Amino acid sequence: MHVIVVGAGPSGLVLALLLAKANIRTTLLDSASTVDDRPRAAHYAPSAIQVLARAGVLEDIRRDGLIPGDMTWRKVNGDKITGIKDVAQPWNPDAMTVLPLNMLGVVLLAHCEKEKNIEVRWNTRVVTVGTDEGKGKGWVIAEVGVEGGLKQEERFECDYVCGCDGANSQVRRTLFGNDFPGKTWDAQIIATNVYYPLDKFGYDDINFIIHPEDYYMAAKITKDGLWRVSYGEDTKLTLEQVLVHQPKKYERMLPGNPKPGDYKLLNVGPYRIHQRCAPSFRVGRVLLAADAAHLCNPFGGLGLTGGLVDVGGLAECLEGLEKGMAGDEILTTYDEVRRKMWHDVINPVSSSNFLRVSATDPDTAVGKDDFLTMVDEASRNQKVRDELDQAMYAICHDFKQYWKKPSQGGTQVSAKL
Ligand SMILES: Cc1cc2nc3c(=O)[nH]c(=O)nc-3n(C[C@H](O)[C@H](O)[C@H](O)COP(=O)(O)OP(=O)(O)OC[C@H]3O[C@@H](n4cnc5c(N)ncnc54)[C@H](O)[C@@H]3O)c2cc1C
Repeated sequence: MHVIVVGAGPSGLVLALLLAKANIRTTLLDSASTVDDRPRAAHYAPSAIQVLARAGVLEDIRRDGLIPGDMTWRKVNGDKITGIKDVAQPWNPDAMTVLPLNMLGVVLLAHCEKEKNIEVRWNTRVVTVGTDEGKGKGWVIAEVGVEGGLKQEERFECDYVCGCDGANSQVRRTLFGNDFPGKTWDAQIIATNVYYPLDKFGYDDINFIIHPEDYYMAAKITKDGLWRVSYGEDTKLTLEQVLVHQPKKYERMLPGNPKPGDYKLLNVGPYRIHQRCAPSFRVGRVLLAADAAHLCNPFGGLGLTGGLVDVGGLAECLEGLEKGMAGDEILTTYDEVRRKMWHDVINPVSSSNFLRVSATDPDTAVGKDDFLTMVDEASRNQKVRDELDQAMYAICHDFKQYWKKPSQGGTQVSAKL
């Protein structure tokens, strides 16, 4: 089998590694000249850690990254509302792990480059994709060339095309045009990376500050003390206005009311935030996964976590096909199950995470907000804490259960949704 993965972002690279382990040949096509270095994901929940372990990269991620300690919700004056001790479950082999996306990309690419079954082609912008029913093949047309240089079109053929090309996916647009149902929040999130010792002010490794205007998330993201501070801004502000406003925002909302000389700011990245899911994750021989298939706001870190769980499932489906243990219909099951997970879990949970920090009264949050009430209870009741820990796996799904069993005479078990 030969699979073309569009997009060598984290989801595409992990999918290629999983397919290589199943002896499936993969060609990765990416429009950029190397891995993306924007400040985005950093926290990967246990469900994603299981996939990274299967891809054979967890040891290197743990070598470069960190396992966070406590997670706390606070008022804007820093007072603790409630929290989860050792949120990562450090006793668990799937413990949540933190590594900024740019560093994750480097680790993943190094592993891909060692695999003889993986070819990565940069400067290759996919324009359109489709299925040739007659031949039983997928195809891709891409513009190939160096940025700013001469470009020429090239046609690729394969057994399956997997669109892992991010939020503005050209693969998704080819299949559905601008049909990407959902909503865009009336807020922009400014993701900053900064050296400022928030732990000296009593902050824990992950902090959510609840406030109608100055809500933010502050988390330690590297071993050498780099912090991610992601805060909300009015959508009307341009990038220039965001940059001008940033020192005032920091001084007003961070503990110690720091002025520019008190911290070292590395990045400022504005992002519009969305809750959107594609109408289907499968059309013929073309599949969608991760941000190409669905989006959610970053509070709670469900974006790439959900994307990695997608590619973990998709790899199991393609491996089943390669081994003759599954029929083509397993890919329809992939579409149905992963879309349902987004609608039933990722969308409602990530939406509540955002509303909890931006539209909840911090004085009554424990009591009125069901999740924070549970978090508070978990600090006193181990059974509730176990439920909380188990909820980290709610988006997982084992697609190998649909592989044919010899006793079933070749009939695939169908999904019960
Ligand atoms: C501020 C912020 C914080 C976040 N924090 C977290 C977090 O802590 N945990 C978490 O799980 N998630 C988080 N997320 C979400 C996470 O960053 C994304 O879900 C993740 O990066 C998506 O990965 P991807 O591989 O699907 O897409 P991308 O990372 O967007 O990669 C897509 C790739 O496709 C390529 N591409 C695009 N178009 C084409 C084309 N036409 N042809 C060829 N190649 C193309 C691009 O060059 C790119 O390399 C956060 C997001 C933001 C904005």
